[in-house]
Amino acid sequence: MIIDLRSDTVTKPSTGMKEAMFNAPLGDDVFNDDPSVNELEEVVADLFGMEASIFCPSGTMTNQIAIKINSNAPGEIICDALSHVYKYEGGGIGFNSGLATNLLNGNKGRLNANQIEAAIKIDDPHFPETQLVSLENTCNKGGGSIYDISEIKKINVLCKNTNLKLHLDGARLFNAIIESNYSTKDIGKEFDTISICLSKGLGAPVGSMLISNFKNIKKARKIRKLFGGGMRQAGLIAAAGTYAIRNNISRLKEDHKRAKILGNELRGLNYVKNVLPVYTNIVVAEIPSEIDYLDVIDQFAKLGLKSVPFGPNQIRFVTHLDFTDLMLEKSINIFNSISVEGTNKLY
Ligand SMILES: *Cc1c(COP(=O)(O)O)cnc(C)c1O
Repeated sequence: MIIDLRSDTVTKPSTGMKEAMFNAPLGDDVFNDDPSVNELEEVVADLFGMEASIFCPSGTMTNQIAIKINSNAPGEIICDALSHVYKYEGGGIGFNSGLATNLLNGNKGRLNANQIEAAIKIDDPHFPETQLVSLENTCNKGGGSIYDISEIKKINVLCKNTNLKLHLDGARLFNAIIESNYSTKDIGKEFDTISICLSKGLGAPVGSMLISNFKNIKKARKIRKLFGGGMRQAGLIAAAGTYAIRNNISRLKEDHKRAKILGNELRGLNYVKNVLPVYTNIVVAEIPSEIDYLDVIDQFAKLGLKSVPFGPNQIRFVTHLDFTDLMLEKSINIFNSISVEGTNKLY
């Protein structure tokens, strides 16, 4: 049995999901007549109480399209230094949209309205004009941290008052919602554009949605084609997305429960210095610097447990819908069965 906790993207389509894909009516989505893509786009827009949405191949593409339609270079975007749009999208902010990046240091990847307000550039020929703010919920690099709706509301009011667009990278938004007192519709009211991933915790094989108003989604359709993301019989994979939205949201609680158990077990190990707070489905263990953390990852892998390095001396585990209670038990056994040099000291 291989236990793969490298990411929640590793899940395979379930039997029910494959049946939905197999039975999906298809058309050509570049002509807008694939019924399964159209259904997914309507279901997702309705879910957020927004006008329209567009199906794209990846979360990187939905984020990059959003940044492009919410800006007009020269100018700048404000985001957290840990955010995916900045760290993990290949420099796309500069390449695709020609914007400068104004990086702030939030709390575990979460910005607050005061720090954004202080960072907005004054009208001066020296400065790039601040044009948009991008938030991430949950924040991957923040260890799956969750925004409070009260802070999001304050940020939205600030953006409205200062004429800034507000984008949400919601690759793991449902993980946040399932742990919070706000709904998809509450979130839909606060942002100009929202991107969500179908291929993370929701378990679809491919896909991401950009959600907004009719005008923005019309623009997004143009940019998607320009980026090479116009797909033909895409209903085959869109049907998996609709299935995921209908069946795989409430069960995210289970992933969070298992992540908490993993975190508690890791905390008790003599080769683990610290475990970051476990908010959702992401567990980050910090290994003391005198221990070779890459060797720890190797030893886990040899015993059948896959994890990834997540920064100096950090190992990340992500729980997901193909990670069972039996695998949880086996992971804990693996944690306890490796021997690590230099662990005579207790942390
Ligand atoms: C995974 C992820 C994305 C998009 O990634 P793709 O692999 O391009 O689908 C965007 N933002 C965050 C926070 C993510 O974790």
